Amino acid sequence: MRNPKTAKFLPRLFVLFVLAGCSNSDAPPVDQAREADNQTTQESGVPVGRLGDTVVPVHYRLKLTIDPSQESFSGNVSIDINVNEPTDSIWLHGKDLEIDEIFLTDANDKRVAASYNQQHDSGVSLVALEQTVDAGAMTLDISFHRPFEAGRNGLFKVVKGEDSYAATQFEPIAARKVFPGFDEPAFKVPFNLTLVTLADHVAITTTPEIAQETLDNGYVRRIFDTTRPMPTYLLAFAVGPYDLVDYGTIPANSIRDREVPLRAVAARGLGDRLNYALENTDGILTVLEQYFGIPYPYQKLDLIAVPGGFGGAMENIGAITYNEILLLMDEDSPLSQRRRYAAVHAHEIGHMWFGNLVTPEWWDDIWLNEAFASWIMYKAADAYWPDGEFDREVQKRALGAMGNDSLAAARQIREPVDHNHRIRDAFDSITYQKGAGVLAMLERYVGEDGFQAGIRLHMKRHADGTATADDFIASVAEGSDRVEIEAAFRSYIEQPGVPLLSARLDCTDSANPQLMVSQARYAPLGSTIEPGSGQWHIPMCIAYSADGAKKSQCALLSESEQAIALDADSCPTRVHPNADGAGYYRFALDDAGWQGLIGTVPGMAPAEALALGDSLHAAFQGGKVPAESYVAGMVALVNHEAWDVVDAATSHLESITTILDTEQLHEVERAFQEIAGPRFARLPSGDDTGTALLRQRLQRFLVVAAKDQEMREPLARKAAARIGLDGEPDPSAAPASELETILSIGVQDIGEPFFDLLLEQALTTEDPAFRAAAQGALARVEDPELVGKLQAALLEGSFKGSDFIGIIFRQMARAATTELTYSWVVENYDEIIGQIPESYRSRVVPAFGSAFCSAERADEWQAFIEARADQLPGYERSLAQATESVRLCAALREAKATELVAAFEN
Ligand SMILES: [Zn+2]
Repeated sequence: MRNPKTAKFLPRLFVLFVLAGCSNSDAPPVDQAREADNQTTQESGVPVGRLGDTVVPVHYRLKLTIDPSQESFSGNVSIDINVNEPTDSIWLHGKDLEIDEIFLTDANDKRVAASYNQQHDSGVSLVALEQTVDAGAMTLDISFHRPFEAGRNGLFKVVKGEDSYAATQFEPIAARKVFPGFDEPAFKVPFNLTLVTLADHVAITTTPEIAQETLDNGYVRRIFDTTRPMPTYLLAFAVGPYDLVDYGTIPANSIRDREVPLRAVAARGLGDRLNYALENTDGILTVLEQYFGIPYPYQKLDLIAVPGGFGGAMENIGAITYNEILLLMDEDSPLSQRRRYAAVHAHEIGHMWFGNLVTPEWWDDIWLNEAFASWIMYKAADAYWPDGEFDREVQKRALGAMGNDSLAAARQIREPVDHNHRIRDAFDSITYQKGAGVLAMLERYVGEDGFQAGIRLHMKRHADGTATADDFIASVAEGSDRVEIEAAFRSYIEQPGVPLLSARLDCTDSANPQLMVSQARYAPLGSTIEPGSGQWHIPMCIAYSADGAKKSQCALLSESEQAIALDADSCPTRVHPNADGAGYYRFALDDAGWQGLIGTVPGMAPAEALALGDSLHAAFQGGKVPAESYVAGMVALVNHEAWDVVDAATSHLESITTILDTEQLHEVERAFQEIAGPRFARLPSGDDTGTALLRQRLQRFLVVAAKDQEMREPLARKAAARIGLDGEPDPSAAPASELETILSIGVQDIGEPFFDLLLEQALTTEDPAFRAAAQGALARVEDPELVGKLQAALLEGSFKGSDFIGIIFRQMARAATTELTYSWVVENYDEIIGQIPESYRSRVVPAFGSAFCSAERADEWQAFIEARADQLPGYERSLAQATESVRLCAALREAKATELVAAFEN
């Protein structure tokens, strides 16, 4: 699953299994250590973690009648099971299902009466048999019905004008809202799927349709081919009056000797916008096949643009679902949209091997699934689109995750998941971005070829089965022949936090220079992290200049203090403690060391400049570097050549303003104009990807963060022309890639007539890119009266799901609207949480309070949420992280705000 970031402060939300019953699985048997994890937790006798292995599924025959013009769907499932010991009850999953009939056919073909009862709100249900059955192979038959969901979970219905569409999202545990079954990733078995639909509807699921029968009243029965062994969470269904575009087939290639049929669907009328995505699928798929050395594992591929909003994308086998913005585009669409398509498409297709062909044994290893896909997506996107500027994305995102990982309340990558309610917790920036960064670090250390050999070995060993993180690291250690990485891998996944390496050059013996390095967990000012805590096995790579040459070398640090002998005969003139920026750690230098390194920024490799920017920013937040050096470093980085180094530096500057009050902010805005203005003025005129991205980012920084009035005026005119404030809308008035910035200026500087028209257009447009830009701009409104209008629109339900959440986060995060939004949230709390999908509430709602910068507000918000804890099961971590961020901000403000403003004035 891959979910878009909703807002800066939002933990990545959306942004997306024991015994393989299948005969061709070579998955290892359940080992004792995992049993001891106690994932089969009982709550009043109900297994709220894993179901255990008394009864396991072997094969499903699932029939669903789906007509989205109705309010409910119905179905029948016939599950072949193995009963491993005599029993009179069967635990399985089913949530809020109405059961019409249930019975068991035992090993002697005798029908045994049964009853069904849901025992836990997470959908753990008990099938009680009228008599005890002996061990053996039997079949459980259940008929059921249920209303469609309204949110984007389970089997849901989207109404758009006259049309109604059905689609699904099952990961992690919503398949149980659609049919009764064994809804755990380890139960990988084949399915035979049948759909009853209206004859003129499109119907898509995992496998191709192989037969169709006409029924009464305009319905047809569609029979689909048997699936490969798969877990429930990777099933998908889409039924309705979709536009279907049949692309034909992806031709055979050197890895695959068969063709793969490819199609895509979107809401009626939008089919002609699917061609770009279809045309660019073959290239991405082929790159991945070449990496794994295994053909695309499934029979066909369908791409589904879910109508009317969807949280990111989901790698369902053979039927990937996407938010419309990720599929509906063309060559002229914004660069950011096309880059996101390429990366997310590579992420989801990458899951077809890692996640789908080889599936995590249980949710405690879903992190590896997502970390791997978040790592390979950029490798594949870069191979497919070499000018797309994807090569440092994994590093940048890992650096981004370090913010959350610096909190005392940070989560370790791999955590036991012993309760259905804690599965959601396993999908956050630590899972996706830190996980991917750790994989990249290991790849840098063992080398690309060795790492790839390990992955190929892993795929071969566990194809069609399940695997744990231990299995993965064993494969990589064996494939790369580097056993020492096991300890490094474990030290990173089994403890939270960012390692901080303090480095000092020792040239006492100048012919034998050494780098003295000590490690401890990074802690910002005001942190409750114990000083000196944490110890890792760190693959550290150092870049330096000595003996007239540029050099680099790697070492595995395992001690709290270590001396690394440099391969040089003279004292180095420059040392960068994170060569290629590939290490998941921060570094610290003394002030002279910082100044020396800052002096070498102009010729520094972009990845090393990014690592420097992060470490320097962190050192300032830790109170370990004077504001003057900090500002000097950021100014040097703003003048670096690489677009993303400039972007990162301006983002650091923008984020540090959260510690300033309004008056200080105005002074700093002027300094920002002086820092970034000249850089913008000397941009080359080219339209390569890097230059285009730099122009967009710098322009946004100058007009939004630095409030450059001279730049804003012409943009306001463009904004008015674009939406047709005084005539017809003129799409050529604003480049697609700058649209959000331009519309934001319209909202802020033109005011009410602009706001009203843009709001209307945002709610009616069929163009997902325009909608996203318009929503982003509306969320930047500052005029209190218009803020009130936006809030009214939110309460009326004009924005759904992640759009709704994203607007609230943006309004909370902007200093001008934080307090207005806060009082509105408090006053309308029940209505607001009613509009947030239940499965996200516990994560999202506490995080609304992360934008303050005062300890009093942190206390207040904590008390407010704790008083409403009943509505937010599992809220604790999200609240702890939100309030800790606020307290850290307050501590930094107290210690450093005045010094920072003075440094900008110089
Ligand atoms: Zn994913």
